[in-house]
Amino acid sequence: MRYELMLPHQIRTAIDAEWPVVLPLGVLEYHGEHLAVGMDTLVVVRLLEHLEREADIVVLPPFYYGASSYAVASPERNGSLHVASEVLAPLAKELFGGLLRIGFRNIHAFIHHQTENFAAGMPTDLAFRLGARQAVFAALEAEHGEGWWGREAMSDYYAQQAGGADPFNWIKIHPLLTPELIALYPFDHAGQGETSLMLALCPEAADLSRLSAEHWYTRSAREASAELGAEGRELILTAMRRALGIACPSGAAAATSQSSAP
Ligand SMILES: [Zn+2]
Repeated sequence: MRYELMLPHQIRTAIDAEWPVVLPLGVLEYHGEHLAVGMDTLVVVRLLEHLEREADIVVLPPFYYGASSYAVASPERNGSLHVASEVLAPLAKELFGGLLRIGFRNIHAFIHHQTENFAAGMPTDLAFRLGARQAVFAALEAEHGEGWWGREAMSDYYAQQAGGADPFNWIKIHPLLTPELIALYPFDHAGQGETSLMLALCPEAADLSRLSAEHWYTRSAREASAELGAEGRELILTAMRRALGIACPSGAAAATSQSSAP
């Protein structure tokens, strides 16, 4: 369900049943002349629309105002909109802290921007990862006071952590393309991989007639196709289901290919 459309009784059901609550996290960034600037975020939004139809999840309104950087192109007349990570981290702390106050304990974000080396991190995901950690610490201290970790009741902390149940799992930030997926599907910027995903998931945000050979990173987009994008979509959906702990319903593959029809 989309969070902004939920009634309070539905929110309480989602809390009690521990539905995954998912933030599409991204940026607005120049993606060559042939793709919309929202690509990195739109791909997450469209994939979550698929999952929302097949499972009980809460989809938060997307956050587009990440740190795009001006590494690809200057903003003037090109469209990249950069918000510095220094202001994103406090915002993320407030956002995640608010979700914890509501009662959610199964919170996720997916990001597709600059995630080719997610273990090391880049400004947008690092800011949201830091904000998430700070929000969890603040929530624990508010509820249990300082010294909460040192008390006898926490003596099973490491066992809980090994089983994935410790409080630092309340909020998880995921790359849309994991290292395993990058081995199976082309990771690029506005090249074959991203253009194919847009053709499959959001064709109204792609116009191949605008493709120019001017930029090195868009040249492989000539090889893009909706078919390759559909393969990528299915691979990514499988990984997203695993990350969110939701089962693949029988017939999901048929349902997703039907829904991509115009
Ligand atoms: Zn991109």
